[in-house]
Amino acid sequence: MNTSLYIPASYIKEKAKEAGFDDCGIAQAEQLHSFSEHYSRWLSLGYNANMHYMEQNTDKRANPKLLLPEAESVISVVVGYKPSQQISRPPFVAQYAYTEDYHKKIKTMLFCLINTIQTDYPTFKANAYVDTAPISDKIWAQRCGLGWIGKHTLLINTKLGTWLNIGELVCNIKTEYDTPMNIRCGECTKCIDSCPNGAITDSGINANRCIAYHTIENKAEQLPADINLGGYVFGCDICQKACPHNAHPQAKIEISDERIKQLENIGTIDEPTFRKIRKNTAMDRIKYTQLTRNIDKNKNNKK
Ligand code: SF4
Ligand code: SF4
Repeated sequence: MNTSLYIPASYIKEKAKEAGFDDCGIAQAEQLHSFSEHYSRWLSLGYNANMHYMEQNTDKRANPKLLLPEAESVISVVVGYKPSQQISRPPFVAQYAYTEDYHKKIKTMLFCLINTIQTDYPTFKANAYVDTAPISDKIWAQRCGLGWIGKHTLLINTKLGTWLNIGELVCNIKTEYDTPMNIRCGECTKCIDSCPNGAITDSGINANRCIAYHTIENKAEQLPADINLGGYVFGCDICQKACPHNAHPQAKIEISDERIKQLENIGTIDEPTFRKIRKNTAMDRIKYTQLTRNIDKNKNNKK
């Protein structure tokens, strides 16, 4: 039975804006053959490092109809997170982790959007995702016209730069679709040149060389000797800071002086203080032992 229904794209975008999203685009739900090939190559090179969960559900990653059989469209949404002020000296924390974890926030906003649409269209059916399912947020955001994927492999939105989080609804509606944006990197290689470990390759990010991977996902007691953490103890913004499309970011999150001070002292805090600082943020993903390991690694890099 075909359960698809038509809802105007303008209605969905208006409701997405009311729900608090900074931008919204829509694409037809279809199998992504070129993404499958690219992703298989990336995995075959071992660029996922120890993130073995990325080897699972590869068919679902490339086909939203395997996530929702009635899928007709993917609605992609973005929320900017550029903080109003930044940590001024190392040790650094990636800016997305300065405040509340975006997963919960965006999921709540997506559920609000679903409820609103269902009030007017009771047969609207959607699954909401924020990094929580095998679906490529960036690829769908690009297909939905929300930006292009730069050489650093991140989505670049013309208003928010790369300082954004992405969520999506895989849903049963038919509507007007957005046009994917062309890549605007040109001859620029600033992100590639800026990476301290040469992690940006033609086949994607090599996690084995990426600071974001080592500071968060790598649980080993010692990090590889040839990895430079670039002053970071959680995540990494280096290639984003180098990107000219991030030159004039619009601050989206207000950060107090007190919060910046807390973060700037992260190199010398004890475990209870770290627990307090990381609460409800993405930093909840690492233990205190990982933090101290990362701090020590930065000190050793300086020697
Ligand atoms: S996040 Fe950091 S380490 Fe990873 S590719 Fe970008 S600059 Fe390199
Ligand atoms: S730094 Fe240059 S090459 Fe890299 S994503 Fe930005 S524009 Fe593209």
